[in-house]
Amino acid sequence: MSFSIASTLDEALAALAAGARPVAGGSDLVVSARHGKAPLPDSIVAIDRLTDLAHVTVADDGSVRIGALTTHAALMLHPMIIDAYSGLADASALVGSPATRNVGTLGGNVMNSSPAMDTGAPLLALGATVELRSVGGTRVVALGDLWTGPGRHIAAADELCTAIILPARVAASGSAYVRLEYRRSMEIAVVGAGACVTLAANGTVAAITAALTAVAPTIVAVEGLDALVGHPLDDAALASVAAMASAQATPITDLRASDAYRRHCVGIMARRAVEAAGRRAAGEIISIPVNRAFGIGAAR
Ligand SMILES: Cc1cc2nc3c(=O)[nH]c(=O)nc-3n(C[C@H](O)[C@H](O)[C@H](O)COP(=O)(O)OP(=O)(O)OC[C@H]3O[C@@H](n4cnc5c(N)ncnc54)[C@H](O)[C@@H]3O)c2cc1C
Repeated sequence: MSFSIASTLDEALAALAAGARPVAGGSDLVVSARHGKAPLPDSIVAIDRLTDLAHVTVADDGSVRIGALTTHAALMLHPMIIDAYSGLADASALVGSPATRNVGTLGGNVMNSSPAMDTGAPLLALGATVELRSVGGTRVVALGDLWTGPGRHIAAADELCTAIILPARVAASGSAYVRLEYRRSMEIAVVGAGACVTLAANGTVAAITAALTAVAPTIVAVEGLDALVGHPLDDAALASVAAMASAQATPITDLRASDAYRRHCVGIMARRAVEAAGRRAAGEIISIPVNRAFGIGAAR
């Protein structure tokens, strides 16, 4: 096995071109190998010293570029992420434990491509894109086009995710992420949902998106929510969000939950995510993460 440490982005890209696999925090790659789920790759390049990829910056057009090496701990405490992209802060605040959040990166979460990843649903609802870089150039892909199945994505082996990009926040918009969890730390989502809502001046829905966690081979967007545009976000609207989410989910049964239980619960999570996103869009401060603010999950 070969292991190298990249000091520059060019070194990392050259190592990938030569067949190495990147390791950022190692909280998926290394921990999975230790648990015997997948062997370590023959060649690994550590990218954690590329500190230029660990910043959050705002472009002239208002879009926000989150370097792939930004940790969950940094995201959940970042004032602008908390304020403008609250759903992402909700998700990062739920990842693992303080130790996991301090080493685990946004790029690692997204590129690990688990259908149970926490940041995927809010990022998809927020309309994120992913920047992929190789020695041959750079391309940007919509997040919804990145994942192809559990642990699989369209990025080539020599492409490094360098950033996740969020569109400029729209006025009177809010976002949220909630997950069903059996305990309050060191847990992965049984199911989850992220949502983004924009309100019109009269308080009706101007735009709405939502995405679901752990109910399909990848994170999936909820289709058909445009039918709610122009309507108030009342009980009837929230009930139809829950019905659409449950109807579109295609979950599996495993030792953590049955498919029927997941299908039912993801509707409730979607309803709560949309409700929280709508309240945030209306200016209400709901603390990060919504899971704790709403009392979701077992007591400590
Ligand atoms: C105890 C524990 C609890 C956890 N709890 C949660 C949880 O609640 N929610 C959750 O979503 N996850 C959880 N995780 C999983 C993990 O912590 C996150 O997915 C984390 O964000 C992974 O980031 P990393 O930098 O450690 O990734 P790594 O392990 O370094 O990499 C993961 C994968 O992505 C690839 N990769 C990493 N960075 C890049 C890049 N920039 N470009 C291209 N490919 C890249 C690697 O080659 C590897 O295949 C948990 C893990 C542990 C060990």
